[in-house]
Amino acid sequence: MQSVEDFMKEFVRSRTESYREWCKAYEPYIERFYVAGYRPFNPRISVISSESERVLEVVRTKDEVYVVTSGPLSGGQHHHRYGLVASGDSWQIASVEVRCAVCSGPGMRKVHQCKPCNGSGWVYLSGQSREEEANQ
Ligand SMILES: [Zn+2]
Repeated sequence: MQSVEDFMKEFVRSRTESYREWCKAYEPYIERFYVAGYRPFNPRISVISSESERVLEVVRTKDEVYVVTSGPLSGGQHHHRYGLVASGDSWQIASVEVRCAVCSGPGMRKVHQCKPCNGSGWVYLSGQSREEEANQ
């Protein structure tokens, strides 16, 4: 069985390589439509952000494995949590959440449960909480 850590290293390496390929594919488009030296946005930032993501913690419960990372953006300011499921001798990603921007993780605002994350401290990249998705 591939270790969770090795799976995440392979995931980050593969994603970064995909972004590099995307950068190459993007160049002819930029050259055709924009003046020399002007970039409406820089796809290389996606490459740099992707390769900067690091595993901070692997959390194993009875049924689930979560990997908390520094996140692929802004130098580790946006922690991500990947929910993994076993797949053959390796893993697959079943969910990606980002640390709640409202409560920054603990799931509480003063004495009330944080509404955006329903107290979990995590929000799906789609903007939903785990509980909201479960109730659909
Ligand atoms: Zn929250």
